[in-house]
Amino acid sequence: MADPKGFLTTGREVAETRPVGERVKDWNEVYVPGSLLPIISKQAGRCMDCGIPFCHNGCPLGNLIPEWNDYAYREDWSAASERLHATNNFPEFTGRLCPAPCESACVLGINQPAVTIKNVEVSIIDKAWDSGDVTPQPPERLSGKTVAVIGSGPAGLAAAQQLTRAGHTVAVFERADRIGGLLRYGIPEFKMEKSHINRRIEQMRTEGTKFRTEVEIGKDIDAAKLRRRYDAVVIAAGATVSRDLPVPGRELNGVHFAMEYLPLANKVQEGDLTVSPITAEGKHVVVIGGGDTGADCVGTAHRQGAASVTQLEIMPQPGEERNANQPWPTFPMLYKVTSAHEEGGERIYSVSTTHFEGDEDGNVQSLHLIEVEFKDGKLEQKAGTERVIPAQLVTLAMGFTGTDQANGLVQQFGLDLDERGNVARDENYATNVDGVYVAGDAGRGQSLIVWAIAEGRSAARGVDRFLTGTSALHAPIRPTDRSLMV
Ligand SMILES: Cc1cc2nc3c(=O)[nH]c(=O)nc-3n(C[C@H](O)[C@H](O)[C@H](O)COP(=O)(O)OP(=O)(O)OC[C@H]3O[C@@H](n4cnc5c(N)ncnc54)[C@H](O)[C@@H]3O)c2cc1C
Ligand code: SF4
Repeated sequence: MADPKGFLTTGREVAETRPVGERVKDWNEVYVPGSLLPIISKQAGRCMDCGIPFCHNGCPLGNLIPEWNDYAYREDWSAASERLHATNNFPEFTGRLCPAPCESACVLGINQPAVTIKNVEVSIIDKAWDSGDVTPQPPERLSGKTVAVIGSGPAGLAAAQQLTRAGHTVAVFERADRIGGLLRYGIPEFKMEKSHINRRIEQMRTEGTKFRTEVEIGKDIDAAKLRRRYDAVVIAAGATVSRDLPVPGRELNGVHFAMEYLPLANKVQEGDLTVSPITAEGKHVVVIGGGDTGADCVGTAHRQGAASVTQLEIMPQPGEERNANQPWPTFPMLYKVTSAHEEGGERIYSVSTTHFEGDEDGNVQSLHLIEVEFKDGKLEQKAGTERVIPAQLVTLAMGFTGTDQANGLVQQFGLDLDERGNVARDENYATNVDGVYVAGDAGRGQSLIVWAIAEGRSAARGVDRFLTGTSALHAPIRPTDRSLMV
């Protein structure tokens, strides 16, 4: 146990954020650089090393949280990094971006603020990179087997790194011009600077993973050819089809999917564009959808100089405390103030968009909304509550409906889909096609980075066993596992 009295003597302290006025003028991460390290060992010392560490089960990766808390408390950063990497390929991604279901399951959280597990995680990995502890781990011998991974998001990268380290020759195919999936094109720079992806890719290249960008499987290379060339395939193509809002005025200029808007802002930060062709500058912006993608649109619009930002959500505002049907240690749906929300804008709950109106040039100018309420389990509009708000840029951030089928990937492989439109798989992440596996959002549906990494690791074990008959790879979860998250 780190510090037997830590939880009694030390209060919870989290990473310090930069002042709003400063950070909205740039795209760097919102945290004060270097502010965590001086406080983090004491924070790790709050861990009680519980007999049954519920945090393990709260984390889809099964991260060995009390073990690395102990090392972090003792400032043995090398050992902490080794324990962290035992279950997580990319803690710098989860340490920045994970909603930390582990903290919702922390035993201390029953009657005190939970241990700052996510902050400890990011401190360990940042320290490991700074001190040169993160080194390539190439395999000692090659198996002679080849694997194609389709998609370079966190699921594809985790699967590729595990399989490369197991000795297989792995090529990652990505249709975008850069590696990273939604980590690269989607998640804004102010949530995670892309240099973190770049150095991992360098590590993976040195270990032997090959990367092929701007190659869309199904279009540029068909499935049959890929199957002939590789002994196994991992589909990690994400769930990239955005949910639409088919209301009058949807066709107006200025109404975009969030995933048309956000990647262009990423491209400006990559240096490919000087200005985004879809910018919020000087505009009244409305973001439809109250989740994380919506929050990323809010933060992006602030930085582009929006005149106003309004975020609409069809569901009622969640409470600030757990309610009875979401008891500890489950991951509750709570009212969240993200860094983007701290920066300004308005959030309106329990409303639905009825239509958009435009000017004579076909540019959106306003959005009509109406209040809604649940009656007998059904969403109903409240008569007489219609109103109009200005909207010169609208982003649709209402989630995703499944894997892209337009490129023929699903049809060419002959993949079965499940009832939700995701690629169906068995307990070993195998699809109905021999030697073809699936991991991440493509099989699970729109989810989280931590799940994508966990599934990538687990699918890699399935592939390894398929290729060699056995596997020593760590596999944290099965497709049916839900951990303690709702
Ligand atoms: C804007 C946004 C913000 C988010 N923020 C968070 C967050 O803060 N925290 C969190 O935990 N989760 C967040 N998520 C969810 C998280 O990003 C995803 O759950 C995760 O990236 C899924 O990983 P994946 O590897 O399965 O798929 P993806 O990251 O979607 O990667 C799939 C890749 O496959 C490629 N691809 C698809 N088809 C083909 C093909 N035929 N050939 C070649 N390549 C192909 C795609 O171009 C893409 O790069 C966010 C999602 C969005 C959209
Ligand atoms: S990956 Fe997420 S759930 Fe797991 S320990 Fe880190 S912050 Fe917690």
